[in-house]
Amino acid sequence: MENRIIAKIEGEKKGYEIILISGMHGNEMAGVTGVEKVINFIKKNKISVSGNITALRGNLGALNKDIRYIDMDLNRMWTNEYINNTDKKLNIYELKELKELSSAIDNICLGNFNNCVIIDFHSFSSQSGIFTIPANNQKSIKLAEAFQVQFVEKLTSDLKETAIQYYAFKGATALVFEGGQHYAEETEGNIMAAIYMALNHLKCVDKNDIPEFENHKERLRSKALKLPKHYELSYIHRIKNGNDFKMNQGYINFQEIKKDEILAYENQKPILSECNGRILMPLYQKKGNNGFYVIQEFK
Ligand SMILES: [Zn+2]
Repeated sequence: MENRIIAKIEGEKKGYEIILISGMHGNEMAGVTGVEKVINFIKKNKISVSGNITALRGNLGALNKDIRYIDMDLNRMWTNEYINNTDKKLNIYELKELKELSSAIDNICLGNFNNCVIIDFHSFSSQSGIFTIPANNQKSIKLAEAFQVQFVEKLTSDLKETAIQYYAFKGATALVFEGGQHYAEETEGNIMAAIYMALNHLKCVDKNDIPEFENHKERLRSKALKLPKHYELSYIHRIKNGNDFKMNQGYINFQEIKKDEILAYENQKPILSECNGRILMPLYQKKGNNGFYVIQEFK
């Protein structure tokens, strides 16, 4: 368990139970180091905190190997069936991680999920466009707005097995923050800036106590694409089991696409866009079941 918890800060005043998760995917180290640096900064400078902050690591085994997951994507397993699974024959490495991580979260929230805020930090394989994915409730969408970067609603209604949707369903404020490309140098700093924005928005820390607060804010503002901020999901391309999927080269997050544009090939057959919109999370890595997402501006 000692590796699971990066750190915990207990505030002197009342506030939210804030849980920062990173490394849910083992090849996303920037989130882990970004969270560590912010926590260490708050501790070292004895910054006044309201509520509690707990930073948790996600998939420890996969983080050790710098791979997305070992047997199964840990962020597609947040169902009661998997969490309460007692079938020893189900030989999935990530079940152990899921049980540990979910019980760590349960031990923090103690059933009072309404007061819990869960931020799950990720990075992605394509080149640009930081963004957030709030769970489907108003308080999560409000928090997403605080970052002043693009955010995409309703993604979680199709990604039901994610941690944020699981806890939002219990009443938590929850979102995913996608901080940049996995191995880009800037990703860690983007994630650190996002943490400060969130802690300020949640009245956990006072921005006047964060020396570089305006720089962090400006950093996210300048990294956000010069596009409208608010989008919703319109399509997910799910790759059929065992099929060979090849995304066409060069797509980046939020890139405009047209109906009937060839986006990818699955078993050598072209995959055409079903509508006009923008592309999100095009798959340029081997592991993953979703080839790409199509989003549209929220109206
Ligand atoms: Zn991820």
